Amino acid sequence: MMPLSFETVIGLEVHVQLATESKLFCSCPTAYIGSEPNTNVCPACLGLPGSLPSLNRRALELGVKAALALNCSINCMTKFHRKNYFYPDLPKAFQVSQYDVPLAVSGSMPIFLEGKVKNINITRLHLEEDAGKLIHETADGRLSGAAFSLVDYNRAGVPLAEIVSEPELSSPEEAREYVLMIRRLVRYLEVSDGDMESGSLRVDANISQKCSDGRWGSRVEIKNVNSLRAMERALEYETIRQRGLLLKGEEIVQETRHWDDNSGVTRSSRGKEEAHDYRYFPEPDLPQIAVERTLVENVRESLPEPPWKKREKFAREWRLSPADSASLSENLDVAVFLENVAASGADRQMAANWVKTDILRVLNETGLAVGDLQVGPEGLASLLAHVEKGSLSNTAAKDVLDIMLKKGIAVDDAMKEAGVKAGGVSRESLLGVVAKVLGENAAETALLFSGEDTSGKKRKFLQGLIMREIRGQAAPEDVSAMIDRVLDEMKG
Ligand SMILES: [Zn+2]
Repeated sequence: MMPLSFETVIGLEVHVQLATESKLFCSCPTAYIGSEPNTNVCPACLGLPGSLPSLNRRALELGVKAALALNCSINCMTKFHRKNYFYPDLPKAFQVSQYDVPLAVSGSMPIFLEGKVKNINITRLHLEEDAGKLIHETADGRLSGAAFSLVDYNRAGVPLAEIVSEPELSSPEEAREYVLMIRRLVRYLEVSDGDMESGSLRVDANISQKCSDGRWGSRVEIKNVNSLRAMERALEYETIRQRGLLLKGEEIVQETRHWDDNSGVTRSSRGKEEAHDYRYFPEPDLPQIAVERTLVENVRESLPEPPWKKREKFAREWRLSPADSASLSENLDVAVFLENVAASGADRQMAANWVKTDILRVLNETGLAVGDLQVGPEGLASLLAHVEKGSLSNTAAKDVLDIMLKKGIAVDDAMKEAGVKAGGVSRESLLGVVAKVLGENAAETALLFSGEDTSGKKRKFLQGLIMREIRGQAAPEDVSAMIDRVLDEMKG
């Protein structure tokens, strides 16, 4: 008998907190971290009788932005529903969310894994309000064993975009790449800070197993994964648990399970999610929302190139290595900086090397953003022009860049300050270095001497060696002239 084999099927719901100043349906501030509990609240977000919600237009715009970047179709008429459930973090006893007519549907996004690109379809993107926060008075902050719990409604009503994928992810690693790409995207778009630690990006995962004998195990929803690592571990654990049950011929219960990060297991939850009748009905206090064509077109025009396009461009057009294409497209500002260095005349590969090693190092060390650097893309390009034509050695150029970064001065001034200047070596010592280098590289020199170096490659090679010796302290034309002089003397 053939041994059974399995296929893992994963779908993700990613909740992204939208970077608005105020909540989704009222004007309370969204800043809930660091605020005194229950201070950023009003009758609307507390659901007091007589209060009415009104939609935050900025949240709608940010939702449209994320949806368009994910290649979704925007519904020109969209509406909100009440999702009813009773839990103390929900002051109104319902959450205003979207149901049958979400803001956007049918998108897609590529992920990259082990040199392959896989397209993941997006089912829908909808807007909803966040719930409040419960604080359980136990050492580990968990509900079980708590003598009492406190509630903070500062977060209640904060706008979220929920992005639902099709169940097309086949492994915990793919799920991880998918979440990373969503995070990169929302940061590119400035739709959210995408920070998982602070809860601005939260993930619920659905996972099931398809068995080679035709059985397809029920879907299990995993909640309480608060980091990428936790999500991967939870999915790995569930894969093993579900396959084990199927191998024993047992059924998999369709349920919600909570990830326990300390014990490294998922546990069946008998909480609010068990009672799955949310009794959705249209929110009577909000009209249907018309998403105007002009808004959609304005947002579309403001979209930056998405991270996956930048990455593919760096890999295919620029021919950078996969690792460089990935790291240089991680952050939009860095990618655009690099593009501008190249647009200012620098060689692409050379610009990529310098941005990757020198610029990213400074950013990591100082915690600055690219825009805060004292050197702009044109400044770096003008430095690289010196390196490219040989008037600065790599080593000397690094010293010059350090000065430029520290003092915010132009390349010529920084060269003076570093004591490197074109023609800074005396003719006598230059002559000595040229004679020495030509002598040490007899084969190349012979080709120059006989005029066989028609491409000029050998000359460039020798010139590079000389430049390195003199730390770039001479103009390339002077070095070239000195090479001719030495060759002439050899002829004479
Ligand atoms: Zn409010």
